[in-house]
Order: sequence, then structure tokens, then C-alpha cells
Amino acid sequence: MEDLYKHQALRKKLVEQLKKSGIKDFKVLQAIEKIPRHFFFNSAFLQFAYDDVAFQIGEGQTISQPYTVARQTELLEVRKGDKILEIGTGSGYQSAILSTLGAEVYSIERNKKLHERAKAMLKQLHCHVQCFYGDGYKGLPEFAPFDRIIVTAAAPYVPEPLLEQLKLRGILVIPVDSKGSAQTMKKIRKTGENEYDTKDYGNFSFVPLLGETN
Ligand code: SAH
Repeated sequence: MEDLYKHQALRKKLVEQLKKSGIKDFKVLQAIEKIPRHFFFNSAFLQFAYDDVAFQIGEGQTISQPYTVARQTELLEVRKGDKILEIGTGSGYQSAILSTLGAEVYSIERNKKLHERAKAMLKQLHCHVQCFYGDGYKGLPEFAPFDRIIVTAAAPYVPEPLLEQLKLRGILVIPVDSKGSAQTMKKIRKTGENEYDTKDYGNFSFVPLLGETN
């Protein structure tokens, strides 16, 4: 763990870049400045860890672009102590950011290798994230309801179980497939038992949220 504070200057630079790109939430920027993103990279690609790009993490999957992580986290309006469900643990980086903001994080990953790897890395970084191996479409009914739910893969539609597992006034941030290669970022607030307020926040590009058959 001796290189935990390595690349601090690169992280500061990344934060400046994110500010220029429109990220305003100070706490989110602080979390990005703190978490060593290079820990979530394969050692062969460390030089790319602080570029504002998505990157391969193996198993055909990617760690989201820092701007995307920052924007989704900002939209989630995380409060200390919030119970948050993440769909798509991937590298574990987004989970680490949420946990640094003081949230109680539950994260589901459907790829066994990525699940194991992220779980070990988060433990090493002392991030208290509960990692689950399973299908995110179903959410995590045994731990519901959640204050916040974040989906970090392109969903073809908004899965009903996720809406059900949201607390009243809770927020779901989810990229929903609109036209193939791009997804619309949706922020859905639960305003009543079966009432939701939905707002769109531009286009993003994610790897697909996979189902049982693909
Ligand atoms: N949040 C991640 C980015 C993950 S990329 C990070 O910070 O690195 C999307 C992830 O969603 C991939 O790891 C993929 O395996 C996973 N995924 C795809 N479909 C899924 C599903 N149905 N349930 C859970 N995870 C899924």
C-alpha cells in the first residue's frame, strides 16, 4: 500500500479538468482527488489511470470515464449515511467513491472474476462496500429499500425491481439505451408510492447491462 498517495499531482490535474467539464460538487471532486484510480487498473496500463477516458478492465468490461463517474455521483446527491445500491461493480472504483462520501454501499456484479477482484481491492483500500455476485436487474430485495440506486451499465429499459427498491424521495440514476451507441442519463426521483419524476441529463456511452441470455 506504499504507493497509495502516489500520483497525487495527476489526480489534482484530473480534478481541475473535471471542474472545467462542469463538475461542481466539491465533495465529489474531493473523493476523486482522494481515491487512487490506478489501483483499479491492470499494472500494464497505469499510465492511463488519470486520463479522462474509460478503460478496459478485462472480461470485455471497462472502468467508466472519470467524468461519467463524477457526473453520475453528482446527480445521485449522496448524503452521508445513505444506503446505496450500485449495479455493475466492475473495477470497484465507483463503489470506492461512494463509500468515501460516507455512504453504505451495496454493489452487484454479474461477472465472477470482476466481482472477486473488486471485492479484494475494496477491502485492501479499507472501503466498506458489500459486494454481491449476481444479476443487477433483480436489485437486492433482501437489503431494500435504498436511498439511492446507481446503474453503471447501459440499460435497455428501467428495471421495475429497482424502482420498487427505492425509498420514497429516493433517487435512481441510470443510463437508458436510446439509440444504440448512446444512452440518455436519467435521474428518477420517487415522489409517491407509484409516482416518479424523471429528468434527462445528456448522452453517455456505457457497456451494456447484460441479461440472463447474453
Ligand atoms: N462501476 C464500474 C463500471 C462498470 S462497467 C467501475 O467503476 O469500474 C459495467 C459493469 O456492469 C461490468 O463490470 C459488467 O460486467 C456489469 N454488468 C453487466 N450486466 C450486469 C448485470 N445484469 N448485473 C450486474 N452487473 C452487470
